[in-house]
Amino acid sequence: MASTVDQAAVQFPPLLSKKFNITDIKQDMLKWDKEWEAAIASSTAADVLKEISRVLDDSFFALDDLESFHLDLRNVQEATAQSLRKIFHEGHFKTIWLLLDASEQRRHILEGLEKASEAPTFWGQDSRALCPEVTVSNLLSEGGKRFVVFLAHFLEVFESSDPALLPNSWWEQASDMPNPWWEQTAHDAERKRSESTKIVFEVASINRNKFIGFFLLFSLASILHDITHRSKGMKDVLAVMENTGAYFAHSLAQAKSSLRDKPLVRCENCTKTPEDIGQGARFMVCSTCKSKLQFEVHYCSQFCQNEDWPIHKKACGKKKVSKGLSGTKGDNLWQFSGQLSPIADMMRDLPGNQDGTVSLANIGVSPCKGQRSPAAERQAKMLEADKDADYFLFTASDVPVRFVIDDLGAKMIFRINRRMFMTQTADSGLEAVAEYILKHMSEYPGLSRDIILKQLCAEYGNNTTEKVVEWERKSRERGIGTGTVIGSLSKDFMKIFGHTISN
Ligand SMILES: [Zn+2]
Ligand SMILES: [Zn+2]
Repeated sequence: MASTVDQAAVQFPPLLSKKFNITDIKQDMLKWDKEWEAAIASSTAADVLKEISRVLDDSFFALDDLESFHLDLRNVQEATAQSLRKIFHEGHFKTIWLLLDASEQRRHILEGLEKASEAPTFWGQDSRALCPEVTVSNLLSEGGKRFVVFLAHFLEVFESSDPALLPNSWWEQASDMPNPWWEQTAHDAERKRSESTKIVFEVASINRNKFIGFFLLFSLASILHDITHRSKGMKDVLAVMENTGAYFAHSLAQAKSSLRDKPLVRCENCTKTPEDIGQGARFMVCSTCKSKLQFEVHYCSQFCQNEDWPIHKKACGKKKVSKGLSGTKGDNLWQFSGQLSPIADMMRDLPGNQDGTVSLANIGVSPCKGQRSPAAERQAKMLEADKDADYFLFTASDVPVRFVIDDLGAKMIFRINRRMFMTQTADSGLEAVAEYILKHMSEYPGLSRDIILKQLCAEYGNNTTEKVVEWERKSRERGIGTGTVIGSLSKDFMKIFGHTISN
């Protein structure tokens, strides 16, 4: 029997990793992780506690032990909380994280899991079996949004309670279990088995939370390391952050993290989804379309199928026609359905083409929510009359020069920014647009940097030059490869939105 158990020195022999036959992490990390996720998904908390109490029971611990375990947990959590406070204080962490590629996000989560498994806890990697919330698939869902939510949740629990044990209904199901081995060992005087598992559960809860604390600490360290060192996977994201107003990066991150992974199923007649209907929803597909065209037209009920028949029969079995309901496969912008991001909103609001893509020509500059200067009004009128032009510049003798951008991604971002300041839905966008125009048109016959700046001042106010110069200075400091913020964003933008744009 132990008096004070030194948690730094004690590690119990591997039980769960053995039971589940988990691959060695050094051999294949992805396999290791996959197998743990499967093991966690297939176990109950009672299963896990049962394994643990095979070798441990309440009589193993003294009260002093518990006290020191709690203290030790608090220390680990305090370190994690400090790191979190710093991150949240500096802001933009969420945006940076959400803009990262999924493979990069996964790398950081795995690094956290690996290091937490090596950190001083009672069960090493076996602790994973107690922590169903810290899995790659859980934390990376919704484009990684769950991870940020979990960070905030951890901090909130830590700051409002001591001891800070993260609530988890799955785990708490094992909280008041009789010792499953009691019957077998009750008469075994030597082993002094205890009838309850109250203390074992408490120790395991502390251990669970310690593992989570370490996991957060190390995954955050991995992310912060990349930010500080501008590592390969982080470079592009930081460029987006630094080179755009926070507004644009933020909406890009929001848009990315709320992209759907799968189209919705909706009833072709009443447009409800299975979630709208709730329990007992039994959707069916039109069997003729399915067998003849391998095309799925969904209905929530026989009633809806009958009601829709007069419309559907015209194409049934002959042509792949659906109503393209919002968010369904037939909606080319299904990935954006239900999004709250301003960019996605705007993309959705734009009139689509026949094939469902968003047309660049539709990203216009009207209507305006405020009062434009006469010069800006003229600009807007000319742009509305010539949808292929991206901007009109004027020579010293007032001859218009059509500015047209060929690069599709740059054109899109240019137009989104142009729309932002010309319709005054946001007070940003002007500098990026001005920088791009100056970069590409200052040398154009009949134009010069001064002429262009003078025009922009007439359109958007006398402080425009000042704002643009400041913007360019920042761009230079950050050493943008392609020379302009819009140019450098174009690739990222196309990665996310490319398939939805047409000329
Ligand atoms: Zn229906
Ligand atoms: Zn059909």
